[in-house]
Amino acid sequence: MSAGAEPYQEALAAAVRHAIRWLESQPHRRVGPQQAAKELLAAFDGELPQSGMAPAEVVDYLASHAEPGLMAMPSGRFFGWVIGGTLPAAMAADWLVSSWDQNSAMRYATPAIAAIEEAAGNWLLQLLGLPEESDVGFVTGATMANFTGMAAARWRLLKDAGWNLDRDGLFGAPRIHCIVGEERHETLDLALRYLGMGSPTVVPADSQGRIDAAELDCALDRIALARSAPGSGPTEGSGPAPILVCLQAGNVHSGAFDPFAAAIAVSKAHGAWVHVDGAFGLWAAAVPELAGLTTGVEGADSWATDAHKSLNVPYDCGIAVVRDPQALRSAMGQHASYLLQDADGSGDPSHKVPELSRRARGVPVWAALKSLGRDGVAEQVRRLATSAARLAEQLAAIDGVEVLNDVGFTQITLAFGDDATTRGVAARLIADGTVWMSGSRWHGRDVLRISVSNWTTDAADVAAAVEAVKVALETVRRSQP
Ligand SMILES: *Cc1c(COP(=O)(O)O)cnc(C)c1O
Repeated sequence: MSAGAEPYQEALAAAVRHAIRWLESQPHRRVGPQQAAKELLAAFDGELPQSGMAPAEVVDYLASHAEPGLMAMPSGRFFGWVIGGTLPAAMAADWLVSSWDQNSAMRYATPAIAAIEEAAGNWLLQLLGLPEESDVGFVTGATMANFTGMAAARWRLLKDAGWNLDRDGLFGAPRIHCIVGEERHETLDLALRYLGMGSPTVVPADSQGRIDAAELDCALDRIALARSAPGSGPTEGSGPAPILVCLQAGNVHSGAFDPFAAAIAVSKAHGAWVHVDGAFGLWAAAVPELAGLTTGVEGADSWATDAHKSLNVPYDCGIAVVRDPQALRSAMGQHASYLLQDADGSGDPSHKVPELSRRARGVPVWAALKSLGRDGVAEQVRRLATSAARLAEQLAAIDGVEVLNDVGFTQITLAFGDDATTRGVAARLIADGTVWMSGSRWHGRDVLRISVSNWTTDAADVAAAVEAVKVALETVRRSQP
């Protein structure tokens, strides 16, 4: 017998109450957590209780004991890493996803989810200007979206080199040369590791972290030359070398974009597969005034982005886009006979992602896009960039603040003279709690990194951030001998 709604009612009502209270607290609460995981553990750990607790009480317990250890990541004054808040329609849709409880692997089993995710995928391709024949897969985050795009690349490159990856595996396969820019996100190296492809060749970047297209061309030439040299390995074969070039839309320190048109042209001249890590930056393509940053990006073969960053849907929601559906479905598809195959050839959702069972994470994306429309997405991403520009301008006016990057998108990287002062300011800001900004290292210096990624960040938040940095710097200076 199905339980109906009755057993859920009190627990869900409690969850709504706590969620509303949490959201209400965002505009004025301190951003950082007040307790460390070690202290918090006592409330959750210990011997597993012999008897249980009523669902609504569990929710009350969770909410009240977790609160001191929560970071106000949905706050407009949170500028850490590259995170993003959550849009109302996306959050509510995410709750629905949990209550619908659909296993989203197969079209025939859950046609509504398949249709909604297919529509969300089509909207994304339109919005980001990517080829309409591409497959779209909803994964956990950009790390897995990079992995997924690169797995499709690996399959295609080896197939074109005459190697059957599915049957013969990687051992003894022709080497795939992977090339990345000096300032790629480290998750690309991680994806290469998952894929058994070793360490990449690293090409120098310019002052903003953009790959140097001329250096990329030289690296590609060197691979081609080594291949044609007498005595090149027996497994190398003839024809163009299998090459995977990874580019980046949005450097986490500078927000800069690789020069796609030039970098893709030289890569294609060498027969390479081009993958783009656009975790937060690919969304620039949705803003007419910023679309110049991504010019040429549609010439790549695969793209990774996050909906949980610039679009502001809840975790977890990465998106893998692959122009070559055969490569993606061969790399990710499951062909076990117990799974009924979709008859119309549209492809089951599970054929485009590493997972089989998963939540319907494309649904909040659809809801976010439906609630914003094309204009709303453009306005949201434009506002992130204009707030970053305004923030950078006001910070640069403070004596002792150096803005290290050209602020053209959502990222700002600051230094305060020497490393010790910069570290001091970062620590002071976190202790103060008005804002949260991440300490990092860039170009051999300690830096303070700011990301404007939350749809709620407004002029008052920008002003609060400027004031907080000013006060932190003064405090650190006063304490110096
Ligand atoms: C955030 C980010 C990633 C990793 O994304 P996850 O969603 O955390 O897996 C990869 N690349 C870039 C450029 C990023 O900003």
